[in-house]
Amino acid sequence: MAVEELSHVAAARRIQRLTSHISPTLTSPQQLQTETCSSRSKKLVVNGEALSLYMKGKHRDIQEKVHEFFNSRPDLQTPLEISKDDHRELCMRQLYALVREAGIRPFRYVADDPAKYFAIMEAVGSVDMSFGIKMGVQYSLWGGSVINLGTKKHRDKYFDGIDNLDYLGCFAMTELHHGSNVQGLQTTATFDLITDEFIINTPNDGAIKWWIGNAAVHGKFATVFARLILPTHDTKGVSDMGVHAFIVPIRDMKTHQTLPGVEIQDCGQKVGLNGVDNGALRFRSVRIPRDNLLNRFGDVSRDGKYTSTLPTINKRFGATLGELVGGRVALAYSSVGVLKVSATIAIRYSLLRQQFGPLNQPEVSILDYQSQQHKLMPMLASTYAYHYASVYLVEKYSEMKKTNDEQLVADVHALSAGLKSYITSYTAKALSVCREACGGHGYAAVNRFGGLRNDHDIFQTFEGDNTVLLQQVRNLPPCLDNE
Ligand SMILES: Cc1cc2nc3c(=O)[nH]c(=O)nc-3n(C[C@H](O)[C@H](O)[C@H](O)COP(=O)(O)OP(=O)(O)OC[C@H]3O[C@@H](n4cnc5c(N)ncnc54)[C@H](O)[C@@H]3O)c2cc1C
Repeated sequence: MAVEELSHVAAARRIQRLTSHISPTLTSPQQLQTETCSSRSKKLVVNGEALSLYMKGKHRDIQEKVHEFFNSRPDLQTPLEISKDDHRELCMRQLYALVREAGIRPFRYVADDPAKYFAIMEAVGSVDMSFGIKMGVQYSLWGGSVINLGTKKHRDKYFDGIDNLDYLGCFAMTELHHGSNVQGLQTTATFDLITDEFIINTPNDGAIKWWIGNAAVHGKFATVFARLILPTHDTKGVSDMGVHAFIVPIRDMKTHQTLPGVEIQDCGQKVGLNGVDNGALRFRSVRIPRDNLLNRFGDVSRDGKYTSTLPTINKRFGATLGELVGGRVALAYSSVGVLKVSATIAIRYSLLRQQFGPLNQPEVSILDYQSQQHKLMPMLASTYAYHYASVYLVEKYSEMKKTNDEQLVADVHALSAGLKSYITSYTAKALSVCREACGGHGYAAVNRFGGLRNDHDIFQTFEGDNTVLLQQVRNLPPCLDNE
């Protein structure tokens, strides 16, 4: 047969198949190729209780406690239609209720039992993703920076207030002009030998801290990442010691007024996560005590001398960022949580939804169509695979926190960067597939895909942009890419 003829036959066959989808009456029952896996097939008996226990392991109880508490409190559930400002206040109330009413104290697990912390975060995120991220900002980012980058004096002073939410705080790393390139940050912390203080300053508009969670409304403190500037006796007069972290009070503890020298703006309505109050911070020569330097990897003495156990700026920078991988682990883990919710909704609906079918017989469940199975079954398998991959990541991370073993630190860095980017990119695409797999009903807000998609989308960017993280996994400095 000539090539042209062959393509005509193929085209005719395709048209016939498409027609049979659109108009089942034109099709004989034999032509409807379905793979039965819905309710008409023999029902599979699954011990759901045992499976859930196996998958959730020893942290199932704490997750159930979170779900039971919020299911019993309709006043704390997020309505479908809610303004940004109301959503922010509701998320704050949800966090207070978790800690002060349900008696769940996530902060104690951040360092001592990370697996339990991540399990709480997953459960909280399924109540409202904004609530999960708000909790993450308070405990992993603000709290985590204090206990991981600070020393005993910081833990003694701040632990209880962070834990009981008296000290609400922010993690102020990103600037308007520098996000992925953290080494390019421009905010300065200049040591003043006379007063024994650091002066925190925003040198230009590009150095305004931007996107900072908890800053627009609720935060009292911020861990501010800034270049440490020390006086020297040479002709230069000052020395730039690289990016360090400092605790900076931003609002008055009693009146909640913004403190002198600090300017706070609201980042406004976002695509999702509107329950989180992201804001911008500008510092105009704000003075803080020398003790507010989070000094685990580098310290400044009363006479302005710098000491560190690590030899170079790059090593100190690496160690500082290395302590922050917990946020990345949390996102990989929580993203699998979103994938579980989304795949469950789409698969359950596909079993119940019926379209087309043999003449004079019940219509066929849409999950019996191979195209629907191709969309959802590999996704279900991937969800299990990512679940176990993220559980493994959490185990490695917990081991790393206990041992500080150098090889483990390197492994967790690579694993968390790779899995965070791979899983969050997969989940972002899966959310669209699931919405489409549920047809028009997938588009109703009540069925959650829209909210999940908008809230989850930024998982691909914060805690390290996915493209940049994959470059790190490849172990090449990003700047070499175009060379
Ligand atoms: C809702 C929200 C909450 C946030 N919360 C906080 C917070 O609490 N605290 C905080 O400090 N920050 C926060 N951030 C900031 C966040 O961490 C940054 O947005 C993120 O690090 C990415 O930086 P960027 O936005 O400047 O993007 P950019 O770095 O400008 O990236 C833009 C694009 O350029 C690409 N790109 C960049 N560099 C390279 C390269 N070398 N090679 C190839 N491609 C490249 C990226 O892949 C990306 O597609 C938040 C952001 C949002 C949106």
